[in-house]
Amino acid sequence: MAMYDNLLANVPTDLWIGGKWRKASDGARFDVIDPATENKVASVASASVEDAKAAIDAAHGAFEGWAAKKPRERGEILRKAYELIVRDAERFAKLITIENGKALSDSKGEVLYSAEFFRWYAEEAVRNIGEVYKAPASGARVVVQHKPAGVAVLVTPWNFPAAMATRKIGPALAAGCPVVLKPASETPLTMLALMPLLEEAGVPAGVVNVIPSRRSGPVVSAMLHDPRVRVVSFTGSTEVGRKLLHEAADSVLKPAMELGGNAPFIVFDDADIDAAIEGAMIAKMRNMGEACTAANRFYVHEKVHNEFAKKLTDKMAGLKMGNGLDDGVALGPLVNAEGRDKVVELVADAVSKGATVLTGGKAPGGPGFFYPATVLTNVPDGAKMLNEEIFGPVASIQTFTSEDEAVKRANDTEYGLVAYLYTKDLTRGMRVSEKLDFGMIGLNRGLVSDPAAPFGGTKQSGLGREGAHVGLMEFLETQYISVSW
Ligand code: NAD
Repeated sequence: MAMYDNLLANVPTDLWIGGKWRKASDGARFDVIDPATENKVASVASASVEDAKAAIDAAHGAFEGWAAKKPRERGEILRKAYELIVRDAERFAKLITIENGKALSDSKGEVLYSAEFFRWYAEEAVRNIGEVYKAPASGARVVVQHKPAGVAVLVTPWNFPAAMATRKIGPALAAGCPVVLKPASETPLTMLALMPLLEEAGVPAGVVNVIPSRRSGPVVSAMLHDPRVRVVSFTGSTEVGRKLLHEAADSVLKPAMELGGNAPFIVFDDADIDAAIEGAMIAKMRNMGEACTAANRFYVHEKVHNEFAKKLTDKMAGLKMGNGLDDGVALGPLVNAEGRDKVVELVADAVSKGATVLTGGKAPGGPGFFYPATVLTNVPDGAKMLNEEIFGPVASIQTFTSEDEAVKRANDTEYGLVAYLYTKDLTRGMRVSEKLDFGMIGLNRGLVSDPAAPFGGTKQSGLGREGAHVGLMEFLETQYISVSW
């Protein structure tokens, strides 16, 4: 543990409820593991159902005061929070690498991206704009305003411990809603470490509460059945999202669901291949492939397949794998043994069905949950990795011959989060983009995430959008007042 001492010495490990640190009601705790070394790095309080109720009490108690603040005041607090995260970016980046494993360069990118949600929603807090018009039949005035929806429960995954949470906290606070956040058990430290900064920025006690827990099911369920809760915003797997949607139905909560993906990456024969490789490396390898937006299926026109496969293989083989804290490392470990074993299994399945390994394909021994950058081609249609999220550094390539075929195969999935395509013909690019049933399209780009843009998916990739102005609306209720004057 010695190598982390300085960094971990001041990181809080208890529950943050009503502006105070406290232990779990029954004293329960769980371990956080560094995926690069398999060392225990912290022991964190594990919230009970009773603690979850206390967090809702705190959030509910803070609601009136926070909602009554002038939008500009809320905006300025968010702006300050943005500045404080940027000030401490290095420390947060290291913390993310320690608990999640990703390379420090990825962690730095995530920290700045996560801070941007506070800057963007500092600006959106003052743009909660309603409207007034005359009802055509009665002549009454229709006054429309948007009010904070109420206490929001936020549940986030481990793959972006900072950004998936600030993408929810930012708009919730801008709208005037207090929140209770349950971060993923693999990566609770980043959000706990953020709390003193939010306090310093001026967020009042009770407005943001953080309750890590190893008892996610009962804890989240208790909160979703509390009548004071009005919003549930979840990012994670489609499987858990579906479950929470069922629970949200019991109290008719406003749901926002950012779920799984199975992104196609289409390379047409007229594409700039070097640009496509650059985009592919980002779309596939950001976060070691542990991203909902990760390119999961490469469809490459048969005329350019060999060039694309060779160039991608060269780049992938050149990535340095190791402890994400070390200089020059581009590929850290996967988050845990389960994640690594799933990748091992998916690759074995594809190879047993006829796929060819161009590089990688073999997990090294421990310690650490490492898996090398891998490229597979001739991946047969029946391979499991074409239907499931790989969530690892594995590119699977298939070829196509016609535009219609590429679109049909890309759309042949229950997911609809993001699709990427490369072509120099912008008319084709727009035509194909419109035919792709995905919430987001990267056209000649390998990265779509942007706080100013609506992030979200169609089909089983989710409901609602985060970021942009529409992200604010997820935390607002529309009220209309019919007036005679
Ligand atoms: P997960 O669904 O296992 O867990 C997400 C969160 O839900 C965690 O906090 C977890 O503790 C909690 N949880 C688990 N079971 C629960 C239950 N029964 N009741 C209540 N809460 C429960 O997902 P994960 O493994 O942490 O993250 C990976 C998944 O997240 C992938 O499927 C990925 O595609 C998805 N993801 C989606 C987006 C997006 O914006 N669409 C972004 C990042 C990750």
